[in-house]
Amino acid sequence: MSSQTMTVVGGGLVGAAIAYGALRAGMRVRVLDQGDTAFRASRGNFGLVWVSSKGGKMPRYASWSRDALKLWPNLQKELVDLTDVDAGLEQPGGFWLGFDDADVRARADLLERIDREVGGIPFKMMDPSELRQYLPGIGPAVVGGSFCPLDGHANPLMLLRGLHAALRHRGADVITGVDIAEIRHDPANGSFEAVSQDRQSWKSDRIVLAAGLGNAGLAAQVGLHAPIASTRGQVLITERLKPFLDYPTNKCRQTREGSVQIGSTSEDVGLDDGTTTDKIEILARRAVETFPALARARLVRAWGALRPLTPDGYPIYQESASCPGAFLATSHSGVTLAAAHCYVVGPWMAGLSQVPAGFEVFTGDRFLDADASFSHDH
Ligand SMILES: Cc1cc2nc3c(=O)[nH]c(=O)nc-3n(C[C@H](O)[C@H](O)[C@H](O)COP(=O)(O)OP(=O)(O)OC[C@H]3O[C@@H](n4cnc5c(N)ncnc54)[C@H](O)[C@@H]3O)c2cc1C
Repeated sequence: MSSQTMTVVGGGLVGAAIAYGALRAGMRVRVLDQGDTAFRASRGNFGLVWVSSKGGKMPRYASWSRDALKLWPNLQKELVDLTDVDAGLEQPGGFWLGFDDADVRARADLLERIDREVGGIPFKMMDPSELRQYLPGIGPAVVGGSFCPLDGHANPLMLLRGLHAALRHRGADVITGVDIAEIRHDPANGSFEAVSQDRQSWKSDRIVLAAGLGNAGLAAQVGLHAPIASTRGQVLITERLKPFLDYPTNKCRQTREGSVQIGSTSEDVGLDDGTTTDKIEILARRAVETFPALARARLVRAWGALRPLTPDGYPIYQESASCPGAFLATSHSGVTLAAAHCYVVGPWMAGLSQVPAGFEVFTGDRFLDADASFSHDH
């Protein structure tokens, strides 16, 4: 065990995975988290473990997602062995389904280009009759689709629970109900102090800001740039149905328990994580067009959750140049990347392994260019 300590601000999927990865690599770890009052994308997401079409504008992100999927089975097993919590990983491959010929053609071009540039992200385009061999219930609105054998899904709530159980099991100090307002750096001895709104404070040799939307207000205090904004996603849940959907799709997925999760919208509405009937109607109609049998299913729940998103939608992983030992981590694919955050990012941020190759593309400094413009797929 290292004599150094690392504080992780934020105990969502990103912070918990990094903290657990640092802990298992030998670091002393403390997690500080706001708890139930906070916006937590980790508790409201769609649960896809997905590489297909990721990284269209950043090849390193595509390879990062691809490699993360390969590490996932190990994390799944480790959490079960250590904590008995099953994160529900299934990787049967996944389908993207299109309603429009032009969208299907654009999809084929995108996947072909990503596979050519990055490699190792296989896919197959299918017409409706081929799709029906895998997804017998699709409706006539579906005009084509793509299949990627690497894709899958998991239960994000169980993943979060498993990571927290693993942190506690291995002796991390997990403190909830604290709202960190200030990060102090002491350049003389290179240490950090995280100070909460109610003036409690915690010292450490390293600090990782993994506070989702909260990173935006904390990063500048240690010389990092985190222009993170929220994009709301609304998600619907049906009653439990007999198994009919063996593969996750971009429009809905059937959970192990039988309910069908339908998602999700992408809305710029600030910090409003509510639901709206117009979006619920759009999501429900789209799901019924995809799988007409869903017209008979009852919706039992709907929620909104806020994605923490950078201007280009890609992650930021960076060590501060002015305050070495302070790191920033944010990603809008906290489920997909959970195992890579654990096994690769955690040890690096703990100072126990080298910075991963090609990570310079993930610095937040890419957003400092006043002439650059950004757009993301959400
Ligand atoms: C509708 C929707 C669908 C999605 N679908 C997918 C998907 O299919 N697959 C996928 O991989 N990803 C998906 N995502 C994205 C995924 O949920 C996020 O990438 C992930 O949850 C981000 O985790 P996080 O820990 O960075 O942020 P969060 O989950 O938001 O957690 C941040 C944590 O930081 C804490 N915090 C914040 N500020 C402070 C502070 N000042 N002091 C102390 N603690 C603080 C909070 O308490 C919170 O626990 C989806 C997101 C949404 C909203």
